[in-house]
Amino acid sequence: MRILVTGGAGFLGSHLIDRLMAQGHEVVCLDNFYTGTKRNILKWLDNPYFELIRHDITEPIRLEVDQIYHLACPASPVHYQYNPVKTIKTNVIGTMNMLGLAKRVKARFFLASTSEVYGDPDVHPQTEDYRGNVNCIGIRSCYDEGKRVAETLSFDYHRQNGVDIRVVRIFNTYGPRMLENDGRVVSNFIAQALRNEPLTVYGDGSQTRSFCYVSDLVEGFIRLMNCDEIGPMNLGNPGEYTILELAQKIQNMINPGAEIIFKPLPQDDPKQRQPDITLAKKWLGWEPTVPLDQGLELTIKDFRDRIEGNQK
Ligand code: NAD
Ligand code: UDP
Repeated sequence: MRILVTGGAGFLGSHLIDRLMAQGHEVVCLDNFYTGTKRNILKWLDNPYFELIRHDITEPIRLEVDQIYHLACPASPVHYQYNPVKTIKTNVIGTMNMLGLAKRVKARFFLASTSEVYGDPDVHPQTEDYRGNVNCIGIRSCYDEGKRVAETLSFDYHRQNGVDIRVVRIFNTYGPRMLENDGRVVSNFIAQALRNEPLTVYGDGSQTRSFCYVSDLVEGFIRLMNCDEIGPMNLGNPGEYTILELAQKIQNMINPGAEIIFKPLPQDDPKQRQPDITLAKKWLGWEPTVPLDQGLELTIKDFRDRIEGNQK
């Protein structure tokens, strides 16, 4: 198949491309390199079955493809809040352009949505039928509400135009290739510990997150894309940790002497988050296989190579 991956030069997109190329597909990677980098896809650049297009999805584009994995959108609060209006445009105009493309060429369309559609949840763990608790005027809303509209657009294109959609709600995912300056918690703590800087816990660290290793998530993506259910479907690892527990774990793994310091909690920071993955188990026979300690080891090795400049 010829498969388009928007945001393919980013963290998740580049891991997905590795899997799709290994399966023998032709892959078109579309990215504006806002948070993505060519380094992530370097090994495919000379492959005749791989094509890289520098393009901003807020502008329309004409391509002929069989499937579209739509991932383009900054994912870290630091990056999506840097230019919130652009984040909304990417989620709304960009998603509309990609759905229009899917409609024209009759491609199956996969939306990378997020657990952020649940906002600061008052249902725990979060099931797909929970409608969420999002502040529509807060500093996270360019992303949360942007993704909620992206889901609405996907379902309206499906109902009105028969576009074949798949919608996944991704919970916090980590792994090699996250940017060192990404601002997300796993990458911050690892980079800080390796640089012998204090680990910055926001608030008192009692807020929780559930961390999924990237290879598990990509396996779920491919299963959902190729099954008959349209979603929305949660994908994530139900293992739930407080942020302070995560800081202590990474501190022990890298640098037990590293300091942990406390900084103010950002506005609207969700207090707890854990996916209910009953649907993914039932429909896809999917559940995560990589425990947090093992995934962190692999991620730390990648960061160490980059930070110490040893990457080949
Ligand atoms: P990332 O920032 O590494 O990747 C996003 C990619 O999209 C980058 O390569 C960036 O350059 C590109 N991009 C951004 N705006 C664009 C635009 N207007 N036109 C073209 N390309 C553009 O983030 P990621 O972690 O790989 O996330 C990928 C997708 O998964 C995002 O849609 C994100 O919302 C979703 N998601 C990720 C997580 C996670 O934990 N990683 C959780 C929930 C949802
Ligand atoms: N966080 C933290 N220190 C950091 C970065 C993040 O304590 O250096 C916290 C953040 O406030 C949030 C959690 O870690 O409670 C996860 O943050 P991240 O940005 O990774 O993801 P999200 O909030 O989008 O789930």
